[in-house]
Amino acid sequence: MNIVVCIKQVPASSNVKVDPVTGVLIRDGIASKMNPYDLFALEAALSLREKAGGKVHVITMGPLPARQVLMEAIYMGADDGILISDRKFGGADVLATAYTLSSAIRSLETPEEPVDLILCGKQTTDGDTAQVGAEMAEYLDLPQYSNISSLTLSEENPKALSVVSTLGSDILSASIDLPCVLCTDQEINTPRLPSYLRKQASDPRMNELIRVLTLADFKDSDPAHYGLNGSATAVERIFPPDKNDEHVFLQGDPRESAQKLLDLLKARKIL
Ligand SMILES: Cc1cc2nc3c(=O)[nH]c(=O)nc-3n(C[C@H](O)[C@H](O)[C@H](O)COP(=O)(O)OP(=O)(O)OC[C@H]3O[C@@H](n4cnc5c(N)ncnc54)[C@H](O)[C@@H]3O)c2cc1C
Repeated sequence: MNIVVCIKQVPASSNVKVDPVTGVLIRDGIASKMNPYDLFALEAALSLREKAGGKVHVITMGPLPARQVLMEAIYMGADDGILISDRKFGGADVLATAYTLSSAIRSLETPEEPVDLILCGKQTTDGDTAQVGAEMAEYLDLPQYSNISSLTLSEENPKALSVVSTLGSDILSASIDLPCVLCTDQEINTPRLPSYLRKQASDPRMNELIRVLTLADFKDSDPAHYGLNGSATAVERIFPPDKNDEHVFLQGDPRESAQKLLDLLKARKIL
């Protein structure tokens, strides 16, 4: 099975400042890590490969330092990594990000090695929209499920997977045909640790497992479809919410407490 796992580099701290003029996150000097939810998608891919054979490719769109999360995935067991990096992709909103990832996957596919499965995490800890996976499925015209809490090879059909999607108290059990896009939840597994031996065997051989793609490598290389140009939305203002240590305890009759809460939120113009 040819599996692509989408992973994103996110700030390792929640204390990230926003440029007051441009509204863009100030990432300089902030440590980064793999989006924690993507670890579950990667583990699901590695477990599937153990049963079905094939390859696990990790892909990320980001600046050159995002190579670090690809290396981390390779230390965990991924076969290789693809870094999508080009200034022309800068300022991408969610739609443009999903289009760029989809376009990269289409550009990498060959008739001999089509992609069978695309795995995404549930959401990121910075953008946090949980939209990229579903939007990729639309662009790629593939079936998709979110909140996957169980993923196994189908016993009846070698070209399908059995999945369980947990949405609060609703549990959906289904069979989904390959190729497809699945967004995993954290209940699905316990991610393995990176291999110390693989880390030891690192540079320079491991570095060769990462390929950098720029817009020129894409089948659709029209710059109008990417970055700011390809974005349907524009940020008017980004601001961190004011922090304070004030606490209000509401006790007593639940109805009265609910009304007090509503009044408080209205008074503070939150509602
Ligand atoms: C108008 C606008 C402008 C923006 N400008 C910038 C900007 O200039 N710079 C900037 O850094 N961000 C920018 N962003 C944020 C950026 O577009 C989002 O981070 C991106 O769209 C991914 O969305 P998300 O983080 O909400 O992912 P989610 O939808 O929450 O992620 C779901 C899953 O999709 C996959 N995924 C998501 N993003 C990536 C990725 N990049 N590579 C690989 N897999 C991925 C992962 O598997 C992840 O678990 C902008 C957003 C908007 C709306």
